Amino acid sequence: MSETAGSGRRFAWPESAARPLGHPIQPSVAHVAESPDALDAHYAGRTAGYAYAREGHANADALAARLDAVEGAEGGIVTGSGMAAVAAAVLGLCRAGDHVVGGAQLYGRSLRLLGEDLPRMGIATGFADPTDIDAVEAALRPETRMILVEVVSNPTLRVADMEGLTRLARARGVLLAVDNTFTTPRGFRPLAFGADIVIHSVTKLLAGHSDATLGYVAGRDPALAAAMGGLAVTLGLTPSPFDCWLAERGMLSFDLRFERAGANAAALADHLAGLDGVRRVYYPGRADHPDHARAVRLLDGGGGAMVSFEVEGGRAAANALVRAAPELSFAPTLGDISTTLSHPASSSHRGLSAQARAALGVGEGFFRVSAGVEDIAGLKEAFSRAVAAARGAAG
Ligand SMILES: *Cc1c(COP(=O)(O)O)cnc(C)c1O
Repeated sequence: MSETAGSGRRFAWPESAARPLGHPIQPSVAHVAESPDALDAHYAGRTAGYAYAREGHANADALAARLDAVEGAEGGIVTGSGMAAVAAAVLGLCRAGDHVVGGAQLYGRSLRLLGEDLPRMGIATGFADPTDIDAVEAALRPETRMILVEVVSNPTLRVADMEGLTRLARARGVLLAVDNTFTTPRGFRPLAFGADIVIHSVTKLLAGHSDATLGYVAGRDPALAAAMGGLAVTLGLTPSPFDCWLAERGMLSFDLRFERAGANAAALADHLAGLDGVRRVYYPGRADHPDHARAVRLLDGGGGAMVSFEVEGGRAAANALVRAAPELSFAPTLGDISTTLSHPASSSHRGLSAQARAALGVGEGFFRVSAGVEDIAGLKEAFSRAVAAARGAAG
């Protein structure tokens, strides 16, 4: 057989006596087993390693180990997106005839999964305000299997009654699943607090550079992880090695980014509150936030990296605000290393009626800020300029 470019894969990978400082990327779809006995031993769990990438690979495991460490979890699973993690939790642990209660202000696609897709599969659902434990209790049924909440809601940053929810879930034998994306394990650790499942969109603050779409889900009980992991492999919810490698690199600076972004968010909240034309600031770290006392208790006194605010005026004022400060990237995400702005009325909450948005307090002048790690003086100047432009346009 003559040599072709493709046959190069028969050559041995060059080894080094010293190991690499950074982790390599291992994109190989398949691993070459030494014999049928060896493959059998792998699938029986008698040897460590990999066979086929959808079933697991080194970059996913390296990232999962870091995420497990910061969440205080064991055996967590990395998924191809945050929504894949939500899906693995709900579909891996519930069956037709079960009932799931979701927080009323969940991430938009989670609302849609619970509101439209699960009922189609015979899983009934309901919603309740997780800051109101009586409302959550009233939503429970004998067949309720899971409560799914976010600790801090989007975009008004209300803080869920996590003490009440863990107590209620325990008393009623219901699984408590917590999407910890906004809070991050630096702000709150659901498993240590008594929740059964923790979920992340790793896409956001954990990976931190808006270049990898990934999720993570871990259970307090290894049997839960096995059920979620098995479903993730079957449905192909598992991640790409390259994304895992990017996220692992991003996570190396997570603590530094989180501290700086949190400090910037707190400073911006106070700065915005002092600007003419700002009607209201929403930041759990401020004493004027309705859940401030709970945030101090649950979130270790930190208000987090997200701030929302409302300016006077309608869509014209909102457009002027965004255009006046191009360095504040207007992008429908959060957790980037740079500061991003989102406008719920035209994006995450566009599907709601104007009345429903008004009931949440989310009008045309409402913006959510995901603070980045920039120099705070420049950020304050940019927000002053943006709010002044909105004021001008509001007339
Ligand atoms: C972004 C987000 C998700 C979905 O994550 P993807 O990685 O975009 O799939 C889920 N929950 C929350 C709270 C989020 O912010």
